[in-house]
Amino acid sequence: MVDGIALLVTNDPGLGDGPLGIVRDAAVVCDKGWISWIGPSKAAPPADRRLAAGDRCVLPGFVDSHSHLIFAGDRAEEFAARMAGRPHAAGGIATTVAATRAASDDALSARAVSLADEALRSGTTTIEVKSGYGLTVADEVRSLRVAAPLTDETTFLGAHLVPPEFADRPDEYVDLVAGEMLDACAPHARWADVFCERGAFDSDQARTVLEAARDHGLGLRVHANQLGHGPGVRLAVELDAASADHCTHLSDRDVDALAAGSTVATLLPGAEFSTRSPYPDGRRLIDAGVTVALASDCNPGSSYTTNLPLCIALAVREMGLTPEEAVWSATAGGAQALRRGDIGRLSIGSRADAVVLDAPTYVYLAYRPGVPMVYAVLCGGEIVSRRGRPENS
Ligand SMILES: [Zn+2]
Repeated sequence: MVDGIALLVTNDPGLGDGPLGIVRDAAVVCDKGWISWIGPSKAAPPADRRLAAGDRCVLPGFVDSHSHLIFAGDRAEEFAARMAGRPHAAGGIATTVAATRAASDDALSARAVSLADEALRSGTTTIEVKSGYGLTVADEVRSLRVAAPLTDETTFLGAHLVPPEFADRPDEYVDLVAGEMLDACAPHARWADVFCERGAFDSDQARTVLEAARDHGLGLRVHANQLGHGPGVRLAVELDAASADHCTHLSDRDVDALAAGSTVATLLPGAEFSTRSPYPDGRRLIDAGVTVALASDCNPGSSYTTNLPLCIALAVREMGLTPEEAVWSATAGGAQALRRGDIGRLSIGSRADAVVLDAPTYVYLAYRPGVPMVYAVLCGGEIVSRRGRPENS
């Protein structure tokens, strides 16, 4: 049981006030990893273990629906050069592909585990993890195998970039991705994703890969409209992808398509931050009735952060979201982008994944940018991280 909660965000409007379903002076009881009771702290039933929230705010664990944790090497020099004035181009991915192919399984795994742990300590209790830096049949399968112990939300991203050895025959690479590579990777993935962008894969190539993935039973996601206007968002909606990610450059038709469909628009402000690019207009999407998620896009080239509180602060400051909307998007929005009903909320029967903030309200996530506000993290009802105590105590 967690009791003495000053302000509880449930994301269940049936349980409390407003879209975040706010309950004050609350307690939450978990049983075998699931939430069994929510109500006033005074009325809480007895429990065998108790965490006193001490007038802090509790909210659902963050759901990071977009990350690239399986890679080797770093691109700090590229970042520094870009900040000195060189524009960002999609081709930088090839640097990471070379380092990833050369790395041992143990090295890939150690890096991924360390990043997933970093994400957990900042409040992320579910993280989607993509392949996409192997770009051979063996290296893509290996990437998904390395990701599997970290999450159920694994994504095959063989169509991240045309690798250098296929540079003058991209259609042959698309055939490989949609054929032999997909056959080998599908058993290890829940999702397939394509980078649909000038310099990566065009609409026809993206469609070929996505339709083949759908035929293999994978759910669909699309990297869409990051670097410029293009067909990615409308293709994602047409194929009923769970999410169109980035959505930085959108036409009115793109926004209308998202509003009419069930595809979530996942915004990744770490990418604009780290590439010094204009941010997407989150306000425009929400006002049009589009469901918005916030995710980290953690990757070594264009967004090397696992920190969703930073993404929340950026979404509020730079993308026109209110603190309430940004918190919803980083929790319930992320769950919707993964088509999950058991996470991203704290209601009876949902997973007991929660963040205890060292603050009286969730507004502090944006109000105190850059300051670690996470006091404790619960995953499946267990305290997995707690400030001021050694881990596992
Ligand atoms: Zn990405």
